[in-house]
Amino acid sequence: MSDPREDVTLALRGLVDTLRHHRDLGLRDLTLAAVPFPDPADALREQERARQGCQLCKLCKSRTNVAFGSGHARARLMVVGEGPGEEEDKQGVPFVGRAGQLLTKMLASVGFDRERDCYIANVVKCRPERNRNPEPDEVAACSPFLMAQIDTVAPHVILALGNFAAQTLLGTKEGITRLRGKTYAFRSAVLVPTFHPAFLLRNPGQEFKRMAWDDLKLARREYDARATDGGRPGG
Ligand code: URA
Repeated sequence: MSDPREDVTLALRGLVDTLRHHRDLGLRDLTLAAVPFPDPADALREQERARQGCQLCKLCKSRTNVAFGSGHARARLMVVGEGPGEEEDKQGVPFVGRAGQLLTKMLASVGFDRERDCYIANVVKCRPERNRNPEPDEVAACSPFLMAQIDTVAPHVILALGNFAAQTLLGTKEGITRLRGKTYAFRSAVLVPTFHPAFLLRNPGQEFKRMAWDDLKLARREYDARATDGGRPGG
């Protein structure tokens, strides 16, 4: 059982980081929800609505749609990727292209249904042109929104896909090959880094596939080991 005082401390620290970041970005209005603890699905809808037309970074110039997030608002597993690709940009939904199809199969291989059991989001919500890597200012502008998603869903396990997600969340420059295979405390969740499905598509050898499979099983064990929660999917 986690210590509720520790959870409150972590939540307040997260709030302070987010408010500081918003101040640094020049945001002056603090919109307080009328309901202090809104339903997570409503909160995510509101966060998504607030990002429509977002112009906080230069990715807004080339995107078609903001791909904010998808899945279950109270999922105990959250999946974090890098940023939308072409198909995601067209549909405004994360992980719906080839990498997304592989991700769906990877999750299913350890018994997770992506709509029922997972909430899926990216570090940046708008497509970097020609799928280039997101730049530090773009990651900095967007990461408070990812943190808000994480705090809203409050997952027990976070599966971080690839270098960008793992490095951004863990605040490290260490590569995914070194980071994977272990678990990390992240806010009130446990974070499991693994290879990005797009990397697995580019490197179809057995070696990486086997490592990713080990990571998925690790994520599953961590998920199963955490206290069940009757109100949540799989609880
Ligand atoms: N790659 C990502 O990291 N995210 C997506 O949504 C699609 C491809």
